[in-house]
Amino acid sequence: MFLFRGCLILTLVALSGAAAEPLRILATLPALHSWAAKVAGPDAVVETLPSASVGPHDFQFRPSDLRRLARANVVVMNGLGVDGWMDKALRNNSTKPGLRVVTVADGLKSQWILEVPELEVRSADKEDSRSGRSSGGRPDEHDHHDHADHGPNPHLWLDPVFARHGVSNILQTMVALDPEHADGYRRRAAAYLDELEGLDSEIRSAVARLQDRRIVTFHDAFPYFCRRYGLELVGVVEEVPSVEPSPRYLTELVAAIRKSKVRVVFSEPQFHPRLVRRLAEDIGIKVGELDVLETGTPSPGFYVEGQRRNLKALEAALR
Ligand SMILES: [Zn+2]
Repeated sequence: MFLFRGCLILTLVALSGAAAEPLRILATLPALHSWAAKVAGPDAVVETLPSASVGPHDFQFRPSDLRRLARANVVVMNGLGVDGWMDKALRNNSTKPGLRVVTVADGLKSQWILEVPELEVRSADKEDSRSGRSSGGRPDEHDHHDHADHGPNPHLWLDPVFARHGVSNILQTMVALDPEHADGYRRRAAAYLDELEGLDSEIRSAVARLQDRRIVTFHDAFPYFCRRYGLELVGVVEEVPSVEPSPRYLTELVAAIRKSKVRVVFSEPQFHPRLVRRLAEDIGIKVGELDVLETGTPSPGFYVEGQRRNLKALEAALR
């Protein structure tokens, strides 16, 4: 009897898969973390790499991050370069056999992707620095910033319609890797896709009621959002993420703000808005705050709550 009971328990453990590790998902952004967590529910573990205060533009791997990567079954990325450090880490480090990488950009048509514009000011500054270097002797091949001047703008996640696309990509991968929990993943994903559709129509009708649609943001994170809802992005304060803009660039920006009669410049909650405040005081316009959802403590509600806060900020500034 004793022996029999032991066998039965072992068999039940094997059948139920209780001994199996839950699916481990690693996201490169808190926004993507919240999408994956909504689908995962209690059936999978979701972690994020960049810490609460360091965004994807400035991220550097620490040994603890590599340990997280080593135990992940799924990596959820945005793609388009903003989390290119993950591509490098995946090439250079050991990962679990069968690891799947899913990106928000997977399956998006190339004509939907926006390019980072090459601004006149930026080319002029580059000419300056080039001539400066050549007079000093051998050009230093490392002396260039690693943010792309050209190429795709990566901030797909701020468009709720692309968020639905990203959630579908995540769902497909989770179902393929963990069919045992597929029903739960599908059910929660369907509910979340509805929630995101509701968010999309809420933003669409609120923005349609706004008197004014012209905005300036801190860094170039909102072109997809603006295109989706018909806002006019007149300019950005930080021409290159995490790089202090040059005086010449700011002069051009002020001229553009005056020409387009922009009434508000949006900073980001994560950044010290001294530069933004000074700029706004100089021109006599308002300061608002839009969250790019690149940093912060991730939670399942993080994405939708952040978008709602942003919508309130837009309504307060532009009505
Ligand atoms: Zn960004």
